[in-house]
Amino acid sequence: MKIQQNYAVEVEDLTVAYDAKPVLWDIDLKIPKGKLMAVIGPNGAGKTTLIKAMLGLLKPVTGAVHFLDGNGGIRTLKNQIGYVPQSGSVDWDFPATVQDVVLMGCYGKLGWIRRPRKSDIELTKQTLAKVGMQDYASRQISQLSGGQQQRVFLARALAQEAEVYFMDEPFKGVDAQTEKAIVALLKELKDQGKTVVVVHHDLQTVPDYFDWVTLINLRVVASGPVEEVFHEENLKKTYHNCAALLRSVV
Ligand code: ADP
Repeated sequence: MKIQQNYAVEVEDLTVAYDAKPVLWDIDLKIPKGKLMAVIGPNGAGKTTLIKAMLGLLKPVTGAVHFLDGNGGIRTLKNQIGYVPQSGSVDWDFPATVQDVVLMGCYGKLGWIRRPRKSDIELTKQTLAKVGMQDYASRQISQLSGGQQQRVFLARALAQEAEVYFMDEPFKGVDAQTEKAIVALLKELKDQGKTVVVVHHDLQTVPDYFDWVTLINLRVVASGPVEEVFHEENLKKTYHNCAALLRSVV
């Protein structure tokens, strides 16, 4: 397949299975650089699996994921991929403060851990302030609510100053005001030319929040600009067994 210049990520012929049972089939996807993209589909459609496969956390049965350099080449983005996991998906039994977690983001872009510098602490403060968590720096991460943890993960990803971000339902468990603040942050990342891929649940807000969308249900139903592919026919194909959800948007 010919690699195009203006894409940040290319997923080629990807099939992913758990215990030999495929849950994503023949995924071909090109994500343009600088887009804010929603991944939508019903529960169990494979959204989280897709994100994890793109991150290299799951080994595909077939296919590959390429990160592109903007000049027609493939590049290694090892330390420039930010990840915000779904809240509640991480077991925080070990003792770590909020500041420790965000510092991991600062180190993430270096690829190693070092004694925190003044600039690391400063960046940690700034990113925590961006997500409204500046007063929680010395709190244990395990003591926070799911929504608060989600904001700390977001701060960690921001501190990483990545090129491509993958976020798994970053609005889960946050209040309306925080959701607005997170949307503003996502748009800021986009304005900086970053590529942001977000697993999203609320179909109503897709046109407001995103400029690109991928609809999946074990396979890609459609992927492209929101105004072109986010329409009734594609939504029906994606959510064919979810009548109530569909009624709320089409
Ligand atoms: P979504 O994020 O769209 O809700 P997932 O990617 O979480 O979907 O799951 C896709 C399918 O894979 C579901 O049927 C789910 O039950 C299954 N699945 C997810 N994680 C695992 C796992 N670790 N082991 C086995 N099956 C899994």
